[in-house]
Amino acid sequence: MSTPKTPDVETPSIEDRLYTNKYTDHEESHLGVFEEQTCLDCETYDCVSVCPANVWRDEGDGDVPFIAYENCLECGSCRWACPYDNVIWENPPNGTGMTYRYG
Ligand code: SF4
Ligand code: SF4
Repeated sequence: MSTPKTPDVETPSIEDRLYTNKYTDHEESHLGVFEEQTCLDCETYDCVSVCPANVWRDEGDGDVPFIAYENCLECGSCRWACPYDNVIWENPPNGTGMTYRYG
């Protein structure tokens, strides 16, 4: 599969740049939470607000955030942002995960 080209715009937006990333799925989430109850009691949802790629999603149902792991940029921010150290974060297996076209 070829890498998508940057959209032909003068000043690419964040969404334009995200579009050029290539994700190789390993079909199993490298992200998760240790204790679901901790999320259910959480009032900050910092994992949601800190993630630059909309991976962690508060669906407004008071449940554990939905994790769209295939959008993950592997920045590690969610792991540090969670005030309860409740984020499971592992590197995707070799050969999978995110590939950046522009670094
Ligand atoms: S992962 Fe951490 S910040 Fe996110 S909802 Fe759960 S406890 Fe809150
Ligand atoms: S590592 Fe970064 S991009 Fe991936 S889920 Fe965490 S905050 Fe989002």
